[in-house]
Amino acid sequence: MMNKAGKDIWVFGDYRNYFRNRVTLQLLAKASELALRTKGRVCAIVFGSDVDEYVNEYIAHGAQKVYVIDHASLKSYRIDTYVELMKRLASEHGPETILIGATCFGREFAPRVAKRLNTGLTADCIDLEINNDGLLVQTAPSFGGNLLAKIITPEHRPQMATVRPGVFKELPHDYEVTGEIVNVPLPKNLPKDRVRLISSKHEPRRTQKIENARIVVCGGRGMGSKKKFKKLFELAGILDGEVGATRPVVYSKWTTHDSLVGQAGRQIKPQVLFSFGISGAIQHTAAIEDAKFIIAVNKNPEASMMKIADVAVVADANQVCAALIKELKKRIRR
Ligand SMILES: Cc1cc2nc3c(=O)[nH]c(=O)nc-3n(C[C@H](O)[C@H](O)[C@H](O)COP(=O)(O)OP(=O)(O)OC[C@H]3O[C@@H](n4cnc5c(N)ncnc54)[C@H](O)[C@@H]3O)c2cc1C
Repeated sequence: MMNKAGKDIWVFGDYRNYFRNRVTLQLLAKASELALRTKGRVCAIVFGSDVDEYVNEYIAHGAQKVYVIDHASLKSYRIDTYVELMKRLASEHGPETILIGATCFGREFAPRVAKRLNTGLTADCIDLEINNDGLLVQTAPSFGGNLLAKIITPEHRPQMATVRPGVFKELPHDYEVTGEIVNVPLPKNLPKDRVRLISSKHEPRRTQKIENARIVVCGGRGMGSKKKFKKLFELAGILDGEVGATRPVVYSKWTTHDSLVGQAGRQIKPQVLFSFGISGAIQHTAAIEDAKFIIAVNKNPEASMMKIADVAVVADANQVCAALIKELKKRIRR
């Protein structure tokens, strides 16, 4: 497909596992940077059912325009339908570039879309830039990672790339920004999907070492009991994080010794650390100095932990934990 209009950069909204999979937000950030050079708009594409909150999230993370197809029949991802919708939308509006996260979903979806649009696709990119001719330079490892190939798509449009999660940084959430929302009706004459979803089951969570976890949910004696402490595992599971604990918790056998955070345990460096019912003794806090952002919940506003936290919530730890689980479960689409 040759270019029809504009220099718009489209980012496909892959919102499944929203809290864990941030690649769409990372791509919106990169697209915003590229658009400064191409003078095009950054657009997000969202297919699904009841997707308003994702549309708003994408606008808050850099999308100037969002094309939305919101219909009950799109609740679950179906490859044939999604590919057809993307093909029709792109054929009609002629984006210059389409970026898709190199997730399991993106790796299945993007090549099919590229084929339907008769254009190229660079898979698994680790960098994107605009060259002096205004073309998208797509950098991807090749020959088993021994070479980095810089690939351009000079003749066909759109320029398409899938990008590995984690290579770009997402922009901070901007509550003030507004964007244009284009509600596209579901076309009537869609081909019948060859796949019928009978049921779906989430894959069990893979655990990681607490030292490497991006999110750690840490609990102390203030959680009250082994049963209540267990809730932290549920929260960590939703956030794809790991559970940490203080010494009294480990000594009470609410969890195992490998969760111990502190002088006698593990040193951690998460991006986000939740601290529930922890007083903040030096033997514990010495091991969390490299945590980037700390959210502490404690009944006592004077607790040392509350003083070093970025956000200090004076409340019952169990109640806050339960409320967080409830809210996150509502938002997560699997
Ligand atoms: C040699 C040595 C090594 C040590 N090594 C470690 C170590 O590696 N790691 C470690 O963690 N500790 C270690 N300790 C122990 C450490 O000194 C502290 O005793 C321990 O960290 C305190 O754990 P805590 O915060 O869970 O409990 P506490 O100090 O009892 O604090 C509980 C907190 O929960 C709050 N709270 C109570 N109820 C609620 C509620 N419902 N909701 C919200 N908040 C509530 C309270 O206000 C309080 O701040 C070591 C000590 C020694 C002497």
